[in-house]
Amino acid sequence: MKAVLIIMDGLGDRPLDEFKGKTVLEAAATPNLDKIAASGISGLMDSIAPGVTPGSDTSHLAIFGLDPEEHYHGRGPLEVLGVGIPLKHGDICFRSNVGTVDDDMTIKDRRAGRIESTAEHCRLLDGTKIDGVEIILKPSAWYRAGLVLRGKGLSPNVGKNDPKETGVKVMKVKPLDDTPAAAKTAKVLNKLTELSYKKFRDMPLNKKRVAEGKLPGNILLFRGAGRFVPAPSLEERYGGMKAACVAGGGLYKGIARYVGMDVLDVKGATGRYDSDYGAKVKAVKEALKTHDLIFLHLKATDSAGEDMNPALKKEMVEKMDSAIAGLLGLKDCLLVATSDHTTPCSLGHHSYEPVALAMAGDGIRVDDVVKFGERTCAKGGLHRIRGLDLMNIIASHTGFKKLYGA
Ligand code: ZN
Repeated sequence: MKAVLIIMDGLGDRPLDEFKGKTVLEAAATPNLDKIAASGISGLMDSIAPGVTPGSDTSHLAIFGLDPEEHYHGRGPLEVLGVGIPLKHGDICFRSNVGTVDDDMTIKDRRAGRIESTAEHCRLLDGTKIDGVEIILKPSAWYRAGLVLRGKGLSPNVGKNDPKETGVKVMKVKPLDDTPAAAKTAKVLNKLTELSYKKFRDMPLNKKRVAEGKLPGNILLFRGAGRFVPAPSLEERYGGMKAACVAGGGLYKGIARYVGMDVLDVKGATGRYDSDYGAKVKAVKEALKTHDLIFLHLKATDSAGEDMNPALKKEMVEKMDSAIAGLLGLKDCLLVATSDHTTPCSLGHHSYEPVALAMAGDGIRVDDVVKFGERTCAKGGLHRIRGLDLMNIIASHTGFKKLYGA
């Protein structure tokens, strides 16, 4: 049996006055998600543990069966894997942006006026060596890039140069412990900051941008240091299960690569409000021919929650629900719908409450829940599980996880 795991990011919410005390999911028209609940089993999921507010990174690791306490090494390596940079054990990885600074290194714009590409910037620094440390810098979407430091005696225990605000100076990277490795890494990074300004400042691209009244991309900003430590793949952990990922956002592609999934390139999958869900669902169906588990990530619900826009979040839930119609009734396929965490529109950021979960497919013990919502699913037969339980359930039901004992 195969499986499709649909994660609607930040889907969970709190009761809202504008929806007469219902959550966004409860207020939205979701006939297809309701069909999964009605023909399957439902419950709630704490992606980490009750009362813990999960990040999108730690929650996805747990959902894919890796305990983040052991396998989470910061955001950097996951972002860099999302860019598609092949990593070696021990590489120090960062999320990075090209930004705009004044001559005195005061930040005018962290995204260089949302510069369309960093490809030319990356070419100027990629492959450079600083104190024997190799700098790897590859372009990602828009103003973003993936930064890797490769060499001996490096540490992820360093700060950042990106203050995450404008009108202040680029930060000096500080070692966060008193080891020689942290001191060396900080020194290399501070030299890299200076070198980026020196190399970017006089780029023809920037002269052209300034002439057009645009902000120049003249500084490399970075944050989220983490060491790449490989993890056992889904295939190794679940009896040869081959998994693929359909996602728009770089972080989710990175997490998928980290757990050994094939990341499929889907045209129109942007990770934004305009993402082409039809194309994504089509890609999921195609991938089922070659893979056992397909992870479908849909991001817009989280973005609308962070934008504190209940009407938009509801619209996005309904858009997701319509797309999911294309996955109903697949033969020999377990269909799982859930989220990674709650992002209440009233807060604009993640919160701790568990999320709705429903799964349907041959052999599932169907319960009495007929509507997919936080409070309806709370009455379901799966009760309340943790993220780390989900892959065990999926792998056991699809026959990839064998008897424990004899
Ligand atoms: Zn998330």
